[in-house]
Amino acid sequence: MVPRILCEVSDVCTVGDGFDVNISEIEAADYECEECGNKFRAVGKDVKCPSCRTRNVKKLE
Ligand SMILES: [Zn+2]
Repeated sequence: MVPRILCEVSDVCTVGDGFDVNISEIEAADYECEECGNKFRAVGKDVKCPSCRTRNVKKLE
């Protein structure tokens, strides 16, 4: 819920229209950990293995 006072200026009350990033539209990728061989899906650039927490992972295409 957005407090009404933040919407007094209509130009700044565009959060709903201008920020419609849907989590399902973000590209998730499959990764494989080089350390423990764990395969997992992750989103983002700073991907860490959920098992051993290393960043030594490779993207599977
Ligand atoms: Zn790992």
